[in-house]
Amino acid sequence: MDTLSSLMTRLKLEFLPNALDSLCEQASKQDQNYREFLEAVLSSEWAGRHQKGLEGRLKQARLPWIKTIEQFDFSFQPSIDRKVVRELAGLGFVERAENVVLLGPPGVGKTHLAIALAVKAAEAGHRVLFMSLDKLMTTLKKAQLENRLERQMQLLTCPRLLVLDEIGYLPMEPDEASLFFRLVTRRYEKGSVILTSNKSFIDWGEVFGDQAIATAILDRLLHHSTTLNIKGDSYRLKEKKKAGVLRPQENNSEH
Ligand code: ADP
Ligand code: MG
Repeated sequence: MDTLSSLMTRLKLEFLPNALDSLCEQASKQDQNYREFLEAVLSSEWAGRHQKGLEGRLKQARLPWIKTIEQFDFSFQPSIDRKVVRELAGLGFVERAENVVLLGPPGVGKTHLAIALAVKAAEAGHRVLFMSLDKLMTTLKKAQLENRLERQMQLLTCPRLLVLDEIGYLPMEPDEASLFFRLVTRRYEKGSVILTSNKSFIDWGEVFGDQAIATAILDRLLHHSTTLNIKGDSYRLKEKKKAGVLRPQENNSEH
């Protein structure tokens, strides 16, 4: 191995070896000075590492699909304040361990926005984890049965951002509500949670099967939080209507 290759290996430069030839070519074509060349070399290694890190974090995040804020059509959903979403996309809420609650009927883009914010957080280097409520409950109950609840709670407390999707679709049993409460308490003021729900807060007593526990959960969740209350038509139905599957009069929210 020549000296340069061996130095790159010893310095653990993973991406530079493959990029070096073209970087040198570019340097001579563009007549770069030493500084410019060094900058190009270091940027290339950095870009490779950043991309690899992001891919790893996205894999760990277990997002069901990838969506971005740029792909969200705000004109279709005028009840959403773009400024608020832009502010959230700045990720101050993750740094301050605050929560985000996305409320609204099915199809209005709650999961889309939750995923888009999770992608932003992963891009910024934060550890992220996405779970449907159903999956969360199965995971916690299994851990409890197998006497490793504490370890599982720890795993769910580690990520800087935890997305819990679809609260309220299935009512919870008392033991489930109490596991959920313990998780929210563990993460309180330590790490952010993004929650999505089709039920407004008034109905959370019913969702958790107990008004007192619902109040205690909401108290912690909402103490430092942003709530987006999305009122509008389902984007899924819009696409169906466009495709001619539904006629406009079949949906009374048509305007
Ligand atoms: P919800 O979680 O509120 O039920 P989703 O986020 O799953 O809704 O949205 C349903 C589908 O419609 C997804 O494929 C999502 O990407 C898309 N979608 C919803 N709202 C919008 C929007 N305003 N702009 C672009 N795509 C949207
Ligand atoms: Mg959803």
